[in-house]
Order: sequence, then C-alpha cells, then structure tokens
Amino acid sequence: MSQGYDLKLTVRETGLADFVRAYQNQEKYLTYCRACDNYGAKWSCSPMGIDTVEFLSPYSYVTVAAVQMVYHEDVVASTPEDRVKEVTLGTIMPVKAAFHDAMLDAEREVPGSITLSSGGCTLCRHCTRPGGAPCRQPSRMRYSLDSFGFDLSAITEDLLGIELLWCRGKLPAYYTLIHALLEREPTGGVVERVVRRQLFASDDRKEDNLKDCSR
Ligand code: SF4
Repeated sequence: MSQGYDLKLTVRETGLADFVRAYQNQEKYLTYCRACDNYGAKWSCSPMGIDTVEFLSPYSYVTVAAVQMVYHEDVVASTPEDRVKEVTLGTIMPVKAAFHDAMLDAEREVPGSITLSSGGCTLCRHCTRPGGAPCRQPSRMRYSLDSFGFDLSAITEDLLGIELLWCRGKLPAYYTLIHALLEREPTGGVVERVVRRQLFASDDRKEDNLKDCSR
C-alpha cells in the first residue's frame, strides 16, 4: 500500500445509559477541553451552547467505532523526528474525513440517529467560529465526543481493547480515531457495514475514498 499504513476497524454497540455512567465525567474532561486550541474556536467543540443531557436524552444505544491507522514497521523506523508532524497529519486528515463521511452515511441508514465525531471539526480549512459567523456546514458538522466529557482512553481500552497511542517525538505504531452513533434502537451492525464498505473496500477504491474526502 502506498500510504505506509493499514486500516483496522473495531466496533461495539452498547446501552447509552451504561456508557454515560461509565465514561462521562464532564467536570474532569471539560477542563482538558479548555486547554485545547479548539475550545471556543470550532462549532463542534466546547462550549457547545447546548444542554448535553437533553441532547443525549432521545437515544438509548450507542455504537462506538474506532479506526486505527497501523503504520508499517519500516515507516515507523524511517520517519525522522522533524517529519513526524507532517506524516501524522498526512495520515489522520484524509482518514478522519472519510470516516466522518461514512458515519454520516450510517446515520442516514439509521432513522433518528446522530453521529458524534472525533476531535474538532475539520470540514473547512478555517472555521467561522472565531469570527462569530454561523457554521458553514451545519448539516455535516457533528459535535465531538470529547466535548461531552467522555473519557476516550477508557472507552477505547474497556470497550474496544485498544490502547490510545500518541506521538512523543517519534511516530507511534498506530493512531486511533473514535466516532460514535447515538441510536434509538440497536442497529444490527449498520456502522460496521457502512464503514467497512467505504474505508475497507479494495485498496484502489479505499485510496480513492481517502483522496476524495481529503479536503
Ligand atoms: S463545518 Fe466549518 S464552520 Fe462548521 S464547525 Fe466545521 S470547520 Fe467550523
């Protein structure tokens, strides 16, 4: 594969009430949000100006989906420290865009559902929020899981068996993106089917999808 990494998908559906009880700690995680550059700078991020309890209240189930970008060993070994940021962004941005679009498609297949995204919105090159203008793409923008005060490390470790890795001056073995679909009823695997279809088809089609979504 030309990108130097392989994609791996892990999906789990569970009850939303248990999920909230186990993994939401707004006080703790919104403190981290306040220290992030996206705080108040993206419409997807805190402060969101919505009642999060009310937002979650129509839903009874959640499907959590993680896409790992697992680097080939030679890529990890041969990427010098001064290229780690460039390689990281070149990996994550197109996968994040394709994953976001796949989750929007899953949302369309599950009536009454809504997606929560991974980190701050990157649909536009420059978000309108700092200038005070409305979101340019409200039909495609989705709030981030982080902004609800969810503990993403615990979710990935407990529910999906994945340890989150970060770059610490060196390319990690993999990066992980986590999205979720909030649902009124169990979906019978729609998220897994749609994300596999769009990100894991043939290598050629996958690369086309990644390029198409890399805006
Ligand atoms: S869609 Fe554009 S304007 Fe809206 S939150 Fe995302 S980056 Fe900002």
